[in-house]
Amino acid sequence: MSFPVVEPKQTPVAVPPPALKPAVDEAALTHRQLLDGPFWQRIPAYAEIDEATFLDHRWQAKHTITNIDKLLQAVRGLVSEDFLQDAAEGFRRAPMSVRVSPYLLSLIDWDDPYNDPLRLQFIPLGSRLLPDHPKLGLDSLAEMADAPVPGLTHRYVDKALFLPLDTCPVYCRFCTRSYAIGLDTPQVEKVTLHVNEERWQRAFAYIASRPELEDIVISGGDAYQLRPQQVRAIGETLLRMDNIRRLRYATKGPAVMPQKILTDQAWLDALTHVVEMGRRMHKEVVLHTHFNHPREITAITKRAMDLLMERGITVRNQSVLQRGVNDTPEVMTLLVRRLGYINVHPYYVYQHDLVKGVEDLRTTLQTALDLEKQVRGATAGFNTPTFVVDTPGGGGKRDAHSYEFYDRTTGISVYTSPAVKPGRFFYYFDPLHLLPEEGQRRWADPAQHEVMIEEARQGALARLRHAEGRGQMEG
Ligand SMILES: *Cc1c(COP(=O)(O)O)cnc(C)c1O
Ligand code: SF4
Repeated sequence: MSFPVVEPKQTPVAVPPPALKPAVDEAALTHRQLLDGPFWQRIPAYAEIDEATFLDHRWQAKHTITNIDKLLQAVRGLVSEDFLQDAAEGFRRAPMSVRVSPYLLSLIDWDDPYNDPLRLQFIPLGSRLLPDHPKLGLDSLAEMADAPVPGLTHRYVDKALFLPLDTCPVYCRFCTRSYAIGLDTPQVEKVTLHVNEERWQRAFAYIASRPELEDIVISGGDAYQLRPQQVRAIGETLLRMDNIRRLRYATKGPAVMPQKILTDQAWLDALTHVVEMGRRMHKEVVLHTHFNHPREITAITKRAMDLLMERGITVRNQSVLQRGVNDTPEVMTLLVRRLGYINVHPYYVYQHDLVKGVEDLRTTLQTALDLEKQVRGATAGFNTPTFVVDTPGGGGKRDAHSYEFYDRTTGISVYTSPAVKPGRFFYYFDPLHLLPEEGQRRWADPAQHEVMIEEARQGALARLRHAEGRGQMEG
């Protein structure tokens, strides 16, 4: 589909009034400078690949690397032998399996693979792994405990999370669903959530039976992996339910393989069909995606997002805050502004979940609080993400700032979630290696663990009692 470009009528330009602000620094506009040209040809394995081939989603899918030997082969010659061994060791100890698209592989700076923010998210290194926090688990959000049907989590009143399948176009090290997503690894035997007609029908029957459910997140796994007829079938079935008002298809795809949007006509048509069907029914259907670093956005991404814009498809972004990836104000601000530039709304930045095997990627809660302060005001308010903690134990997402108590020495923060699980406390734990020495010393002693948690609980109780007392005085 293409639209004629309408040239605006030329109006005579007036002489600008004297400036109150100094001229803008070029560096403030880097969010508009997107990587373009045949950047993939830097990788020896893709040196002969022309643009049409590289943009072909089938080529991307066919050449996606799903085993460690092939990955190491593809970058052999670009990196040292030490790095290769380090990566092989990293994968041996990782909870996620390998899956990297050629596009993603081409975006990694192989001259500096140890520090590259994209490498960091997808390729573990044995030498960088840190011991897990004693409070880490595989399903830290307790999604399975809130699931009436496998793969359907009904935690909040009016919205539910449907996981139609358990594969993605790439596998992220930090995946919060490492309990299910991807192939079994030496570390994890996964729960299977394959495409399964009967499981889907049970999920749909449950959704239809709950009049309070208005909003379904179709996640995964990943909507990119659904066949076009599956995208349609899920969308049509849910839209036809009277209670359903909103759908979101969630996919990592635009960040790791924007080519599919540009060249998989049948898939994009299926999504467009559901969006348009929803619009005619006055129901909202949008796409949620997952960019974490500004370098994940290239000129190819912009073309893909432009196409979605032409089709009237709203895109929102959810990032995961990760140490060494996007934990500085410069990078986070650049990400947020670049997303805005390509018409993707930054919706959430998640404090990293308590996932096993990725302690090197977690940050303290304080990092999120500081970043939010820096980012807010840098662009439109509707393009400013909310920083959230998805509370371990199933309390749901909370504004990072809304903790009842936060001890920066033990790294324990406490949240309540009155609308989701009233009367309960939820705890988040900062990574041990970033705590002050005293905190690290206390965690080294198992007898102190429950003591520290009890201290945090008492701190939260005191604060709540204080707030209640104040409320009574005011009332
Ligand atoms: C994140 C999530 C949702 C959607 O929450 P929003 O805050 O509306 O984005 C719904 N259900 C579950 C279980 C979730 O984790
Ligand atoms: S794309 Fe999402 S669901 Fe898939 S591996 Fe990455 S974080 Fe997990």
